[in-house]
Amino acid sequence: MDLGAYTPMPAEQFCSVKVDSTCKMAEENNFPIQSETLVHMMQSQSHSLLKQCGGVEAIAFKLRASVETGICGDKVDLENRRKVFGSNIVREKPLKTFWYFVWDAMHDFLLVVLAICAAISLLLGISTEGWKDGWSDGGGITVSILIVVLVTAASDYRQSLQFQALEREKEKVFTDVLRNRRRQKICIDDLVVGDIISLSTGDQVPADGLYISGYSLLIDESSMTGESEPQHVDENKLFLFSGTKVQDGFAKMLVISVGMNTAWGHAKELLCKENCEETPMQQKLSSLAILIGNIGMCFALLTFILLMARFLKQKENLWYWSSQDFWVLIKYFSLAVTIVVVAVPEGLPLAVTLALAYAMRRMILEKALVRRLSACETMGSATCICTDKTGTLTTNQMTVLKACVGGVLWQLHASEPQFPDNVLGPLLQGLLQNNSSDVVNDGTGKQSCFGSPTEIALLRFGISLGTSVEAVRCNSQVLKVEPFNSTKKLMGTLLKLPEGKLRAHIKGASELVLDMCDTTIDADGNQVFMDERSKCELNGIISKFAHESLRTLCLAFQDIPHQSLFEKSLPREGYACLAIVGIKDPIRVGVKDAVQLCSSAGIRVIMVTGDNLTTATSVAHESGILTDGLVIDGPSFRTLSSDGRRQKLANLQVMARSSPGDKHMLVKELQAMGEIVAVTGDGTNDAPALHEADVGLAMGISGTEVAKGSADIVILDDNFSSIVNVAKFGRCIFKNIQKFVQFQLTANIAALVLNLSSTCFFGHAPLTTVQLLWINLIMDALGALALATEPPHSELMDQPPVGRKGKFISNEMWWNICAQAGYQLSVLSILQFQGKKILGLEAGNAEDILSTMIFNSFVLCQIFNEFNAREMDKVNVFHNLFGNWLFLFVVVFTLTVQVILVESLGKLANSIPLNREQWLICLSIGSFSLVVHLAVKILIILSKYIWNLKSNLNKYAMHRKEYEAIGKHCSNCNNCKV
Ligand code: ATP
Repeated sequence: MDLGAYTPMPAEQFCSVKVDSTCKMAEENNFPIQSETLVHMMQSQSHSLLKQCGGVEAIAFKLRASVETGICGDKVDLENRRKVFGSNIVREKPLKTFWYFVWDAMHDFLLVVLAICAAISLLLGISTEGWKDGWSDGGGITVSILIVVLVTAASDYRQSLQFQALEREKEKVFTDVLRNRRRQKICIDDLVVGDIISLSTGDQVPADGLYISGYSLLIDESSMTGESEPQHVDENKLFLFSGTKVQDGFAKMLVISVGMNTAWGHAKELLCKENCEETPMQQKLSSLAILIGNIGMCFALLTFILLMARFLKQKENLWYWSSQDFWVLIKYFSLAVTIVVVAVPEGLPLAVTLALAYAMRRMILEKALVRRLSACETMGSATCICTDKTGTLTTNQMTVLKACVGGVLWQLHASEPQFPDNVLGPLLQGLLQNNSSDVVNDGTGKQSCFGSPTEIALLRFGISLGTSVEAVRCNSQVLKVEPFNSTKKLMGTLLKLPEGKLRAHIKGASELVLDMCDTTIDADGNQVFMDERSKCELNGIISKFAHESLRTLCLAFQDIPHQSLFEKSLPREGYACLAIVGIKDPIRVGVKDAVQLCSSAGIRVIMVTGDNLTTATSVAHESGILTDGLVIDGPSFRTLSSDGRRQKLANLQVMARSSPGDKHMLVKELQAMGEIVAVTGDGTNDAPALHEADVGLAMGISGTEVAKGSADIVILDDNFSSIVNVAKFGRCIFKNIQKFVQFQLTANIAALVLNLSSTCFFGHAPLTTVQLLWINLIMDALGALALATEPPHSELMDQPPVGRKGKFISNEMWWNICAQAGYQLSVLSILQFQGKKILGLEAGNAEDILSTMIFNSFVLCQIFNEFNAREMDKVNVFHNLFGNWLFLFVVVFTLTVQVILVESLGKLANSIPLNREQWLICLSIGSFSLVVHLAVKILIILSKYIWNLKSNLNKYAMHRKEYEAIGKHCSNCNNCKV
């Protein structure tokens, strides 16, 4: 094993030689350490091997990297690193080919049985009638089977491609990397060995590596080792594994193995899963499909028995069976099998998959990435959205607008900040040292900031006081950092000042920090005792800022004796209040409209925020969330009994100063009250609430990887309006599936009953095997394609949500199904019974013309009914027709194939060409479906109107009675007065 020679070099010296020379060495593949050594060291977590290699800095040196400036990172350098150590991409299972899906579709049991029937039919046909006339029956079935197989395979293949692309999108994670002195965000796939990365709370460790430096780093290794207790990683335990998550703290890490060389890479290769999760709607529809399939089976059996009975009755000699008889038998059998094929609505799950895939693709464009398929449809039934404030309702672009330092008020653009030196010193430390954000030069001379928006705002405020971050940071040494989290709502830093003094700085939620202070700073910078009056004044300032929708933070500090250094955490009292700052975070454009849309869609919006009650109330008013509802703070909510909580929840609109635990509790209580809850989250601690909710929505920009990992949907632009869009798409999926079910059930019922009834009366089925297979294609694959991909429209948000108890097949849908199936059956039966007489068909081929017309009318009825299904709620079924080109394409395609089948492929489709009048009659029968739909619609509207009128009259009568009994209007009643 080559460990490579290393002579330690002082950091400053290294920094001065670094980038150019390391770059050159790296470009020449000159790495004096082998990939295997590094992988072995990681896998065995061998500290002795690490020591033999000279420690972390030495390994960085051998990897031509510097812990101060990163790798060179130019194109050649990156390519060489990938060549030598590999890239950070976990190998994916090869994509299934089209032929795989063809093979899969060919395994359908019913199709196999049909294929056998087709083969026998071909054999018998050819042997009895010769090649010329005998091939058509069997040939027709064979061609139809091939078409069904190809269409099924093509649609499955397309789905698989789309899901694969979405899967890749889902796995795109970004990380902070230091290259050529610059901190930048890159996709983890682009990481290379030697990269220096920064990790902070909520990040996913993107590759295997070694800890360089950091504070309070706690790693959740449960995904790798199953260990539920988070592990401390520090100078004594240096190994960091990809796939694990940062629970708390922050650190710098040196990447030493990537991609398939990491333990996570191995684990993922073994796991390599497919997206085969069945959504609740798919499960529900699968059981519906089984039920319909079973009913179809009964119909098929009955049809077969009836046909056989007639055949046997007419057969003169039951003991003599010619090949012609066998042929008839096979024909009957294949017809029965085809009836089952038609009855089994395999298009139902296909429609759901299509609708979901379509919606998922569209949702990415609308800034929502779906991680769990079923979440799309659940979002459509959501009755309540619990939303964060910061970043979701607001822009997350924060600026310190006002501050009160040493009792002096300062406002942006109103006055130049001027503070005495003895105030400015600690203030700058509080703003710039007790701050985990950073300023970096982006290479073009422009400075950009990394970190949380709150901290960036403080950092910028500090810089505006006339100093640079480096100047302040060089002046003192950071000894300890307690990072911010939303449970504590505080951040603290212990500094060692140049004169050796220790100083603790703390900043955070204003009232919490103020409670930890017993002194304050006056205008001259003197530390004075904080009596009740000055505390009241400071509280007044906090409240004033908050009323202006400003996020308030309090900054405090204290000098502490040396011995406290060894205490585990920073002191919780004895601070001097240094400043109160008010940070402006403007409300996003469009939020008010989105909230309004939710209210018209019957979706409740509850704002859950870590900010204080006054700020929260003020922002909730501004954004239209707070109307006449309740506002509560997290600590009060927590202490209520379960009943008390539910009472409040009935009217709750804002929860302020909430901790992630409160959010979790809120979600659980709302669910217990029957609500379908969608909740947003960005922090690591939000993971339980995201998990618990019916739909967890993580924020793509501000959200941590842990939050994203626990969420069902990632909102890529963090915008509340995008969440409302997701709800719209969810409703659209639900509606599209309903449309398809209505269309398919109508065709199913009509086809089954028609075949059975005419078998009863005439002894033969009007629709042949090939015709039935074509009808099956129209109502399954083509129907799903046309109806499941309807784009969402704004009216979807004018209706109340379906909720938990909503019916999938509504009463209106049943009306439509029965009316259309009833119409189709009656008109086709009339054609069958009286067709020849009505149409005056007397020629020798009258029977063939009639059966072709029945087939043609049936198909045209389905085509026109597709229009009816498309606009279930509207009277005008042609509304926005050109909004969905796929629907139009399917209709035109179906019509064209139908014309070809009737006019040119008569032999295959068991039909004969029709003349113009006959076509016109078929078209009239088909298009009359539109009139039937219109009549049903008008009837439904009328019956709704009458129903409303009746219930209003009843109410009125009831109140009238009450009025007469008590002699005055009952309370809360407008009806009596009407
Ligand atoms: P929301 O829940 O609305 O999205 P949030 O997630 O930003 O808001 P928290 O992060 O819990 O809410 O912040 C709550 C409070 O903590 C803020 O009002 C602020 O006073 C304080 N705070 C926020 N960020 C920091 C920070 N980096 N350091 C110290 N205190 C902070």
